[in-house]
Amino acid sequence: MNSETKLVGLFGYPVGHSISPAMQNAAFRALGINMRYAAFAVEPSRLQNAVEGIRALRFRGVNVTIPHKVAIIPFLDELDEEAREIGAVNTVVNADGKLIGYNTDGKGYVTSLVRETGISLPEQAALVLGAGGAARAVAVSLARSGIGRLVIANRTERKAQELAERVAEYTETAAIALEKIPRYMPDVTLVINTTSVGMHPQVDAMPLEERYLRPGLVVSDLVYNPLETRLLRRAREAGAQVHNGLGMFVHQGALAFRLWTGTEAPVDLMRETALRQLKGETSEEGDEKESKGEWPKG
Ligand code: NAP
Repeated sequence: MNSETKLVGLFGYPVGHSISPAMQNAAFRALGINMRYAAFAVEPSRLQNAVEGIRALRFRGVNVTIPHKVAIIPFLDELDEEAREIGAVNTVVNADGKLIGYNTDGKGYVTSLVRETGISLPEQAALVLGAGGAARAVAVSLARSGIGRLVIANRTERKAQELAERVAEYTETAAIALEKIPRYMPDVTLVINTTSVGMHPQVDAMPLEERYLRPGLVVSDLVYNPLETRLLRRAREAGAQVHNGLGMFVHQGALAFRLWTGTEAPVDLMRETALRQLKGETSEEGDEKESKGEWPKG
């Protein structure tokens, strides 16, 4: 670091073993960009002070994670249109003191899904399981990217309805309770798990009954801890095409990198670094270390 080094970082609470610092710092190093990324545990009551700190310390920007993605909005100067529609911010850019909020989660997901599965979005009838924060980003971006149809199923049906209303202007949309899934399954071509069901340590749980998994279906899971959830394993065994949550994580970071640097991100390097972090093979700086087999958080 020197006086010219620009800082970026992550605001969350807690931030735990985040894999973003290693992924972003590896990308800055590889491209010779004089920027450094660090994770900051920001208590909710201190969020406004922390945002003021972005200006005072001339950070180039930050990523924002749980629990600040919605709470940060009133402290920003401007919101990108997609972030406004999602109702949450995961990336802030400091444009000479003006703080602009973006959301790269949804676009990161769509980029990863299309690149890694090769599917054509207008031909898909997607079943979105869940209606929480991640579902909002994914559903809004899929709808804005021209997905054929969206069926949103959630344990709390009211939240599915609210999300369906958010995206109805872009595509044919339905909101249903989990019990109604069987009625819709014959027409569904793409299943997307946006719930935390199946995430470590509840690795034996599945958000969809196994009998619906079949060849021809694409099954996507936002969970990346573990990388192959029980849902994806069973889907693969049933002959479905599978897509895991690592690509979303990598591409949301790559899009944030581009917003901060104006340069295309080295996506393959970022993916390799994130994967090695997940396996516990590298330190927070991305340097090699002995594997400890522990699963860090995003
Ligand atoms: P969230 O806002 O808390 O939403 C959780 C969702 O899961 C809600 O729809 C909730 O239903 C549902 N749910 C939780 N437990 C359930 C259960 N036992 N049965 C049925 N539904 C259940 O969380 P989030 O931020 O959206 O995150 C969700 C998942 O996405 C997490 O596993 C997270 O790691 C993953 N994620 C991955 C990425 C990535 O980059 N790959 C990015 C963001 C999030 P109710 O509304 O009924 O409570």
